[in-house]
Amino acid sequence: MKIFNDINELRKHLEIYRTEGKTIGLVPTMGYLHKGHISLVQKSVKDNDITVLSIYVNPTQFGPTEDLDKYPKDLENDKKLAKEAGVDVIFIPTNSVMYLDNHATYVNVDNLTDNLCGKSRPTHFRGVTTIVTKLFNIVQPNGAYFGQKDAQQAIVIKKMVKDLNMPIDIIICPIVRENDGLALSSRNTYLNTEERNQATILYESLQKSKECIKNGEQSATIIKDMIKEMIEEKPSATIDYISIVNEDTLEDIDYIQGNILIALAVKIGQTRLIDNLRMEVNLIC
Ligand code: AMP
Repeated sequence: MKIFNDINELRKHLEIYRTEGKTIGLVPTMGYLHKGHISLVQKSVKDNDITVLSIYVNPTQFGPTEDLDKYPKDLENDKKLAKEAGVDVIFIPTNSVMYLDNHATYVNVDNLTDNLCGKSRPTHFRGVTTIVTKLFNIVQPNGAYFGQKDAQQAIVIKKMVKDLNMPIDIIICPIVRENDGLALSSRNTYLNTEERNQATILYESLQKSKECIKNGEQSATIIKDMIKEMIEEKPSATIDYISIVNEDTLEDIDYIQGNILIALAVKIGQTRLIDNLRMEVNLIC
């Protein structure tokens, strides 16, 4: 496994693989790897000759009051897990490598970034789409692997790739969860024991919603109120949003029908967690 900090060195190395006709998969991450990240790596290793993992905590996707400075890091463990999972190349750039002092160019996907996380994190997706575009230009992968855990991010990146004619397959991998349902996240490390116990409410409320919808509930308001009630029972929880949206437009819906996404963002203590559930609902009235 090779490790690069420099863009030109990485490009030169990847060019060798390309001239050999090898396919390259890219897994962009912010590090502090867990089994969710590793599931993306495993899929890329399965699909491609070469897998590139990037580890970069991208400042432009963090708001001024967010956790950029305290974002967890364990580079040695990341390298160990990456190697075990079959990563060929890790790219670990610094801020000065990724953003020149006079950086002035950003990529923005309209509309899809207005709702859900875009409401409380207004500059977040601009940061994500900009850094992902830069990583795509640097690595020029055949495919790039993202998690359904960040459902809006996945939809926004797919749209960006389509709109900007980027010749890259976007592969979305399922959410990896703890045994009790909590979606794996690097931020789970911030939770104390009590908060960790309460954090399962995101998954539990999504499961309960699924059951109600399967039993015929069609009102998004009723489902959202039920989720709200369940979450508010947890003393450490503060709701950012509970939304039920059309999966293609990410606009709120009143009636549950078609491809829907139920998406939650909840602060447990000081830690903001997200989770979601996709459903295809075909109700015959
Ligand atoms: P992050 O390091 O949090 O930016 O995540 C890097 C990639 O891993 C993103 O595409 C995430 O959606 C994905 N990811 C994070 N957590 C999970 C999870 N629990 N299951 C599947 N993918 C995940």
